[in-house]
Amino acid sequence: MADTHLPIHQESQEAEPWYAMGLRFKCTQCGNCCGGGPGYVWLTIEDMTRIAEFLNLAFDDFTRKFVRKAKGAYSLVERANYDCIFLKRADGKAMCGIYPVRPMQCRTWPFWGMNLATPDAWTHAASRCPGMCDGDAPKYPLEHIEKCRTHPESPE
Ligand code: SF4
Ligand code: SF4
Repeated sequence: MADTHLPIHQESQEAEPWYAMGLRFKCTQCGNCCGGGPGYVWLTIEDMTRIAEFLNLAFDDFTRKFVRKAKGAYSLVERANYDCIFLKRADGKAMCGIYPVRPMQCRTWPFWGMNLATPDAWTHAASRCPGMCDGDAPKYPLEHIEKCRTHPESPE
């Protein structure tokens, strides 16, 4: 009869995420995620402080010009065509006018919880973001992906 008290190897209860081997991503500067339709670019106080400094504006002047209140939080202002106020389009490319100090929401894209929930969720998001389905793009390791996914300002 088998001894049920033997000290045996315990399998890890935590399965590896489907993206454990890393995910490829390289922005093509198409601009889809920064405009083209209504949306929100949520801002923390830290984001606003950093951007105001970068633009050499007093905090209040920055918020008056570039920040709107929505759903009880703060978001960047959009242009009439729904482009982010800081999006610059030229020669078929879209560029962020505040790239070095862009909000954390923008920095953590595309490694958001909603995109990482399942491979299908990733593929769905990639249908609007060509940078997520570039087979030659650099591969981001699990550590970086998880850092973005779990960042407090990264959308779930
Ligand atoms: S949608 Fe993707 S590829 Fe296009 S600008 Fe945004 S991050 Fe870059
Ligand atoms: S801040 Fe920059 S990266 Fe973020 S949505 Fe606006 S243009 Fe895009």
